[in-house]
Amino acid sequence: MRLAISTVVLAGIGLMLWGAMNLTQVKSAAALGEEAMQHVERIVAFGPRPAGSEALRKSREYIIDNLRSAGFITEEESFTALTPAGNIPMTNIIATLPGRSDRTIVLATHYETKLTKQFEFVGANDGGSGTGLLLALAKRIANSTYERTIRLVFFDGEEAFFEWSALDSLYGSRHLAEKWKASGESSKIGAFLLIDMIGDSNLNIRRESHSTPWLNDMIWRTAARLGYEQYFLPISGAVEDDHIPFLQAGVPAADLIDFNYGPSNRYWHSADDTLDKLSAQSLGIVGEVLLAVVEELDEKQ
Ligand SMILES: [Zn+2]
Repeated sequence: MRLAISTVVLAGIGLMLWGAMNLTQVKSAAALGEEAMQHVERIVAFGPRPAGSEALRKSREYIIDNLRSAGFITEEESFTALTPAGNIPMTNIIATLPGRSDRTIVLATHYETKLTKQFEFVGANDGGSGTGLLLALAKRIANSTYERTIRLVFFDGEEAFFEWSALDSLYGSRHLAEKWKASGESSKIGAFLLIDMIGDSNLNIRRESHSTPWLNDMIWRTAARLGYEQYFLPISGAVEDDHIPFLQAGVPAADLIDFNYGPSNRYWHSADDTLDKLSAQSLGIVGEVLLAVVEELDEKQ
């Protein structure tokens, strides 16, 4: 993704105020975060995972195995993307848990990492964190009952190969948004919730300003209700990410992204995007907020 508006606001380092929350919630967030972190560790162990790589194929197998054992129906959506690096095979993963209604709620992330030549990029946060958290959420979601159909989507080809542009970025999400628009599937989506770079141990998420306002309102209200307002800042910043093609297809969508990773965002797209920069707590906090938002959306008529 890239920052579209340079409103750089230095966010204060949030202090963990666990005392403000109830014990059950704290335990639940901690367990969810730990489980997500274990998935991130497994995924990062595959090494750099650019589109078309053997490491990404292994990650895909790992993701699909976990989704199936959680009880989701999985589908691999493969296509060839014309990129500045040539024709690259890509595969989105779509996991479905059918509800009573064919109205859907989509949770999404990208699972590939940026191709780099000068250094080894393992994308613990950028590519790893969202994938790990969605896998941990898959188990929680499968153990609940929802009226709506829940879909988890793992996009390939989010990153640019050369330089970010409308054509060199968001390959997987553009492909799926077009397909779902053509089939009418996009009109069944009540909300599309994207997560990206949400594992930073110094978690501070701004309201992404392309995102659908009522959905941002719901997320920020939920975060405040759960006692997490210090991580969900009351300031905005615009980021181009995998939600954009869905917004363009008329789907209500929001992007939860902490695009303030290390001093002056220095860890982003660098050799420093490693496991030691992440925390299970951050993953757990974002996960608990998402679960509560999905519950509220499911009750919404
Ligand atoms: Zn990236």
